[in-house]
Amino acid sequence: MEKRVEEIVIVGSGPAAWTAATYAARARLDPLVFEGAPSREMIPGGQLMFTTEVENYPGFPDGVDGQSLMLSMRAQAVRFVTRIATDDIVKLDAGGQPFILTSAEGTEVRARAVVVATGARANWLGLKNERRLAETGGGVSACAVCDGALPAFRNQVLAVVGGGDSAMEEATYLTKFAKEVVIIHRRDAFRASPIMVERVLKNEKIRVEWNAVVTEVLGDDFVTGIRVRNGEAGEERVIEVGGFFVAIGHTPNTGFLKGVVTLDDKGYVVTAKAWRTETSVPGIFAAGDVMDPYYRQAITAAGTGCMAALEAERWLSHASDEAGEKAVISPTSDHHLPRSPRP
Ligand code: NAP
Repeated sequence: MEKRVEEIVIVGSGPAAWTAATYAARARLDPLVFEGAPSREMIPGGQLMFTTEVENYPGFPDGVDGQSLMLSMRAQAVRFVTRIATDDIVKLDAGGQPFILTSAEGTEVRARAVVVATGARANWLGLKNERRLAETGGGVSACAVCDGALPAFRNQVLAVVGGGDSAMEEATYLTKFAKEVVIIHRRDAFRASPIMVERVLKNEKIRVEWNAVVTEVLGDDFVTGIRVRNGEAGEERVIEVGGFFVAIGHTPNTGFLKGVVTLDDKGYVVTAKAWRTETSVPGIFAAGDVMDPYYRQAITAAGTGCMAALEAERWLSHASDEAGEKAVISPTSDHHLPRSPRP
């Protein structure tokens, strides 16, 4: 018996993925979403699952917490019958139609169209002790919102490295628990948005080490301090800390797309045309942080998710028309395969 061919598979579970799923489901494309498996660095729902207050997502005048927003988006996609697999896609074979996707658990799925919305993951400084202590729960983390409330961080001096919105948000969040928060930034100006910088600079519990580079993370079982090099003179000193949080940006989750679609030098998916989500391979679309090194906002991710679903729908109907014109639809072709029930 011929294996089922999905109309559309969506890979990811952030705002881009759930918006694409909602649009695809309402367009009767019967989407299947691979939402990813939970790991130490990422959980289904993506980066917003680690965000406390989202104040700039339209429709929420009092703000909304990131987890609630993501669970609502997921529920909205499910309401229109979206099927969900809690598994990672590790391989995409785009050598012909249908595409073949392989999951980490070994499931093989065939699909006529694919939307890639796998987002991005936290970057690390790359220091010797950093990852080891992060992986062993030794007081080093790339997510203050996930780990900051842990008892070990209460009334401690905590360091946050970075100068973007994430660093501002994490530092502000950590003041709820910490005795003091020290932001370590490599330049003399933050790149974060003015409102978040203002909040940080007004906060009496936060101080900033400008022009400072972390050269070492100290501690055996738990972080005890960081070695910091200040200024052009290169003077080094130790700041004693009871927690170290890294907030220096993200890398797109596109490992499984290398050699499949065109990526830029940082690994972001390159779309073939401006204001379109189609990649270098017709039938594969990209949405959200995975194709956006510039805006990287929840609302822009949701917007591109909508665009990707609409483009995929048009692409699928165009491909069907072409197939019809050539009169090559056989009784066992994709169009005749069973679909899951609709509401
Ligand atoms: P980002 O804007 O790329 O900022 C990364 C920061 O880390 C920069 O200040 C950078 O320094 C520093 N950095 C990078 N590599 C470093 C290294 N090796 N050593 C030391 N410092 C390093 O990343 P982000 O803060 O994660 O923000 C990403 C996007 O998400 C942005 O568009 C942001 O607006 C958005 N975001 C929004 C919110 C919100 O609105 N609530 C919250 C979080 C994030 P330089 O400045 O010197 O380059």
